[in-house]
Amino acid sequence: MTLVPIPTTEFIQGISSAPGLVGVRQRIDSRALPNLLAFARGFHAAGYGQLEINEGARSRPRQDMLWDNWEAYLARGKRPPVAALAAVPYTSIHDEVEHGNAIDFGSGIGTSATAASVWAHKHGPEYGVRGTGVTFSVKEWWHFDIDKTSTAGSGTEIEDDDMNEDERELLRRAVKAGEDNAFTLSQIKPVIDALNSGKGPIHSKLDKILWTVADPTSGMRKMLSDLIAKVTK
Ligand SMILES: [Zn+2]
Repeated sequence: MTLVPIPTTEFIQGISSAPGLVGVRQRIDSRALPNLLAFARGFHAAGYGQLEINEGARSRPRQDMLWDNWEAYLARGKRPPVAALAAVPYTSIHDEVEHGNAIDFGSGIGTSATAASVWAHKHGPEYGVRGTGVTFSVKEWWHFDIDKTSTAGSGTEIEDDDMNEDERELLRRAVKAGEDNAFTLSQIKPVIDALNSGKGPIHSKLDKILWTVADPTSGMRKMLSDLIAKVTK
């Protein structure tokens, strides 16, 4: 497994602003990064702004620390400052050695009540981004697992690992422009049918051109015959 830094672009903020991790660039298994970036773009396109990453892959010392805090919380019933539900060390999908493909999101996804959170849980699976935190014994609305294989059929991402982020964006725009300008068969068929049956605006324009060419007084006939004489000489 290779951990890679999560980039910061218009769509995604890879540097954490969460307590205890402020200013730390977060990491993810490289195989899960394309799905995460596609999800961030979808989140942005849906109007929820830049997707924030509170935490990605988690170091083993930090897992030990979180577990200690969690145990202390269970023992004393008093939650220390940074204690959330913690997995048994090294079993979490956040684990930097075995998994590295869990993400705790910010951007208002942290609670059940926001539109951003509802959108993320509903549409995440289309990008291979699954909100498994809601199944924990203490619900974590912010915790998602990211698939390490590209998600087929999402229809939002052109898979090409050789492209940089700018190139991907350009390609996405080009595809979008093509889709916007494309005629559907149902749009074209009535025009062709009208032409076939001698009706419609295109037929009457063609008709006008043909009459103009054929009209001896228009000069078109002479011009054409001169031209034909010239090129066939
Ligand atoms: Zn988590």
